[in-house]
Amino acid sequence: MKSIIIIGSGMGGLATGIYGQYNGFNTTIFEAHSLPGGQCTSWKRKGYVFDACLHTLNGFKPETKVNAFWQELGAMPCEMVERNEFVSAVLPDGTHFHNHYDIKKLEYHLKQLSPDDADVIDEYINGIKSFLGELDWFGISNFGTFWEKLSLVPFFLPKIKYFKYTMGSFGERFRHPFLHKAFPLIRYSVPDVPLFGYLAEHSSYIYGDSGWPRGGGMTLSKNMASRYQELGGTIRYRKKVVRILTENNRACGVELEDGTQHKADFVVSNADGRKTILEMLEGRYMNKKVSQYCEPNSEDNDIAFSVFVCLGVKRDLSSYPSFLIMFLDQPETIGGHNCDHLGMQIFGFDTSMAPSDRGVIKVELSGKPSYFSQLYQDETAYQAEKNKIAEQVIALLEKQFPGLREDIEVIDVSTLCTWERYMGGTQGHNNFPRKYKDLTDIRNVLDFIFGLNRIYTLPGLGNFFFAGQWVTSMGSLFSNALTGKTVVQKICKKSGVKFTES
Ligand SMILES: Cc1cc2nc3c(=O)[nH]c(=O)nc-3n(C[C@H](O)[C@H](O)[C@H](O)COP(=O)(O)OP(=O)(O)OC[C@H]3O[C@@H](n4cnc5c(N)ncnc54)[C@H](O)[C@@H]3O)c2cc1C
Repeated sequence: MKSIIIIGSGMGGLATGIYGQYNGFNTTIFEAHSLPGGQCTSWKRKGYVFDACLHTLNGFKPETKVNAFWQELGAMPCEMVERNEFVSAVLPDGTHFHNHYDIKKLEYHLKQLSPDDADVIDEYINGIKSFLGELDWFGISNFGTFWEKLSLVPFFLPKIKYFKYTMGSFGERFRHPFLHKAFPLIRYSVPDVPLFGYLAEHSSYIYGDSGWPRGGGMTLSKNMASRYQELGGTIRYRKKVVRILTENNRACGVELEDGTQHKADFVVSNADGRKTILEMLEGRYMNKKVSQYCEPNSEDNDIAFSVFVCLGVKRDLSSYPSFLIMFLDQPETIGGHNCDHLGMQIFGFDTSMAPSDRGVIKVELSGKPSYFSQLYQDETAYQAEKNKIAEQVIALLEKQFPGLREDIEVIDVSTLCTWERYMGGTQGHNNFPRKYKDLTDIRNVLDFIFGLNRIYTLPGLGNFFFAGQWVTSMGSLFSNALTGKTVVQKICKKSGVKFTES
């Protein structure tokens, strides 16, 4: 029986292990952390669950290809919890904009709010409608044969007009000042997100395919880890890999931080690509392209989800929207970032996230990676800044949730440095190869949709594969899990084994 060592138990690592077991390989996952799931994680404090990852999971709809894939991985069943709107936004004067999932309700609401924007609203609504229907285009584009993928061309052609917009550039077309500034932020406060992806996502909620799994992301991770172990796979937690062993330019095992060495026929890295290439393999398997992939992002731009302020509150939050953009009276600098709004997930809709009659508010702030990495050099200064951020956020939230301070039972602040500490990455959670100038590059979007230009191997190194984010260049649970399946297909081919999915 041939063996596979997998570095990391993120989505790609767990999926590699599961399909490896299905196909008769002897697999072991070495995970640096004490839990499975990698970025798909949460932590518990005094009964409150702070989910660090999830906004939405796709693949709930039975009989879609993605759902079938999750079933193979044992990720399902996850119970989908209903949410009514994608996001709501509120101005300091209390004016609300609700981005309802229900498009009739959404159209009515938007036209009431801004009759002058009827043309842009129609375009927006028609954009969502254009993705509706029973065609499993997402499944086909990921799992279909070449000819099946080609059959999607007539489906995508009429939508090309949406490709030219980001959320920001489309939002600027609204004449109403509130919609003009709120629309660009409706997808997790990131104006650079392509409009196309958002329209597809919105329609996927209506279609019943995207949603929130009860208990959050950790439910999914634990379900997959259980399936893997039931199949006979071994996860060894708190085992950090420091070196990939090679013989005659073939990967043949790993060395752990504790000095032990472990041999296998194949090695798969689900860890950060930069660390894998530059440290675990000491930069021995690189060419010009790989060097470019490993370059850090020189721009040091503000990035989303740099800081999370999670609050466990003794208050029923079930009547609040699931995601709220709260505009501030005046901009305020928080964690080095100039904020004119606070974007937050409000977990009143999932009772399993907190003890009874309680709820969680998770405020998501953007920021510059360098701001926190510099502070992190000085533990006292770093802690002081985290405390200051929490204090600022709570003071601002008081305006929307009067008396909140009295109800707060737990405060938890995490930053990009927290991700690096727990996940071993080099750029917080943004551990993507630098293939293009930035993530919103249209080529990245096309690669994502059609699974093109993926980085599974390294030049000159045999019996080694990547699984996860380094392959896809995208933050997506499903896509990164899928790389694990592809890796095992490749290993089966090399080993002369007929691939099976069960
Ligand atoms: C804030 C945030 C929100 C997100 N929201 C969503 C969402 O709503 N929906 C969605 O689909 N996706 C979302 N994503 C993206 C999704 O979570 C990720 O794309 C996916 O989890 C990445 O999986 P991966 O296979 O790349 O592995 P990772 O999650 O990157 O896991 C890598 C694993 O390797 C381990 N490791 C690293 N180095 C070593 C080492 N040296 N030795 C041993 N182990 C090691 C790490 O501890 C980790 O467990 C979000 C991501 C973030 C950060």
